[in-house]
Amino acid sequence: MTADLNLPADLNLPADLNLPADVSPAAALEPTLDHEVVVIGAGFGGLYALHELREAGFSAHAFESGGGVGGTWYWNRYPGARCDVESVDYCYSFSRELNAEWAWSERFAGQPEILRYAEHVAERFDLLPMITFDTRITSARYDDGDHTWTVETDQGRRLRCRFLVAAVGALSATQVPEIPGHDRFTGPTHHTGRWPHEGVNLAGKRVGVIGTGSSGIQAIPEIAAEAAHLTVFQRTPNYSLPARNRPMSSREIWVAQRDYEGLLASGNATNAGVYNVGTGRPALADPPERRAEEYEHRWAVGGTDLMRTYGDTGRDVEANETLAEFVRGKIREIVADPATAASLVPTDHPIGSKRICLDSGYFATYNRDNVTLVDLRREPIVTITETGIDTDAASYDLDVLVFATGYDAMTGPLTRIDLRGADGDSLAQRWSGGPRSLLGIAVAGFPNLFTLTGPGSPSVLANVIRANEQHVDWVVACLTYLRERGLTRIEADAQAQDAWAAHVHEVATYTLYLHAKSWYLGANIDGKPRQFMPYIGGMVAYRKACDDCAAAGYPGFALAGAPRGSAAATPVTKPA
Ligand code: NAP
Repeated sequence: MTADLNLPADLNLPADLNLPADVSPAAALEPTLDHEVVVIGAGFGGLYALHELREAGFSAHAFESGGGVGGTWYWNRYPGARCDVESVDYCYSFSRELNAEWAWSERFAGQPEILRYAEHVAERFDLLPMITFDTRITSARYDDGDHTWTVETDQGRRLRCRFLVAAVGALSATQVPEIPGHDRFTGPTHHTGRWPHEGVNLAGKRVGVIGTGSSGIQAIPEIAAEAAHLTVFQRTPNYSLPARNRPMSSREIWVAQRDYEGLLASGNATNAGVYNVGTGRPALADPPERRAEEYEHRWAVGGTDLMRTYGDTGRDVEANETLAEFVRGKIREIVADPATAASLVPTDHPIGSKRICLDSGYFATYNRDNVTLVDLRREPIVTITETGIDTDAASYDLDVLVFATGYDAMTGPLTRIDLRGADGDSLAQRWSGGPRSLLGIAVAGFPNLFTLTGPGSPSVLANVIRANEQHVDWVVACLTYLRERGLTRIEADAQAQDAWAAHVHEVATYTLYLHAKSWYLGANIDGKPRQFMPYIGGMVAYRKACDDCAAAGYPGFALAGAPRGSAAATPVTKPA
């Protein structure tokens, strides 16, 4: 999640977004659609999209590769999987009734509870009949002759729709690195993002974990507690803060259920979509003792509040260093063996320039007798073998190998689908030099496609459920606008898209995010273009840009369609 970066109030949003909307009559129209809207994915974005589309009178259907709803929370069942946004924030805000009846049991909900919440939403709002499970959309081709998408699934189905809403998530395309010998290991291997639903019995086993990002840092203490021995293969040490997870008190539950206005405010009035408890001062404005007090207080409280202590640690190297050094000091305090502590202390990137991790006893885990840290900067992996991992210094025998190696983030979930736009180009081809989109939600050359929380939007830098809600609201309002005018085609203008991409990049340069080799930049995937993908301008500025665009009749987009009363304006009601 983004720190509050105190970016300039006037973010100088690109002026040339004010392109005139080009409204022209539609070409030949095809009334025999399967649905007006196909939604790809039934995670939090997809579920809300279905709800709102149905409310607005659109025929919509979702296809979901998993066997149930929940998206990332359906797949990420690794031990210790837990949200790093507080439960009272990491939830929908669209329904006062939903909020009033749901009681979170923990400050940071675990994966099973978040999944139950997604399932509850799907049942409560009767969304399940609108979803086909165990079905992956493999390709989608746009036909400019009749303004439709033809979608194909891995179950052999082919169907046509007018609009495509990609609710594929930013972190759903798992990544296993091409380490030499990666297919030689004869024991079980598991990626944290595809953890078996029946669980994995690690008792008495020698387990190896590769990767110390958010997933590894959550899983490692749990695996250490169960396994006979755990060997952690760490390439880059990471900053992690104590979650200090705990049960919610009955008073907290009562307040969360009743304070619906507070819930809305946290999503709408803050840049990250969560409550903000910063001092409002620059870090160096406080003398060192005062700064230490502020940091100590937030470290003791737990969660990510520490990152928001001062407004400038996300963009000023010196300010950042005060916070980074505070956390390094904590790691040295917790880890008993000085050599292990030295390996765990991050020094190669500013704190917060990679996604900050939240943990429950991560660093203390290295004080256990049954845990070994292998510092891959000192002894790189030579090969994975049939029985374990060989570094250039030793052989480590393992029974189970866990890849906590992350994702082809933000673009991967979209480019792994064979999406073909108006001229037949694939999205993967179009984005081979890095993703470009207008407002992170539409791509030039791909009419009638909306990318929820796509690259170029706040997405992973915000509370993703709220970011999804904002995108869905915008899309449904846009589709309603088109319907009311008998329009059947909307496409981002290439020039407006370029202006937005330049703005997304410019805002990132105000920050320290470009100082780390992170997945935000595509740096975790060999050959992926280095481009800061999410929009760091914050939800407030971003929401305004989206709202202004809609209020002005979608400048920056070309609109087209048949006049009112034509076949195109006829609602499509064919069932799934
Ligand atoms: P990640 O942050 O990308 O971490 C991947 C880890 O694998 C890194 O430590 C990386 O090392 C290591 N790695 C990759 N390739 C390697 C190789 N060839 N050899 C050795 N190590 C290698 O992935 P993640 O932990 O799954 O987290 C991804 C994102 O998902 C998070 O940042 C967060 O946004 C989200 N997430 C959230 C939660 C939560 O809400 N609590 C939990 C899990 C995930 P390098 O750093 O050297 O590349």
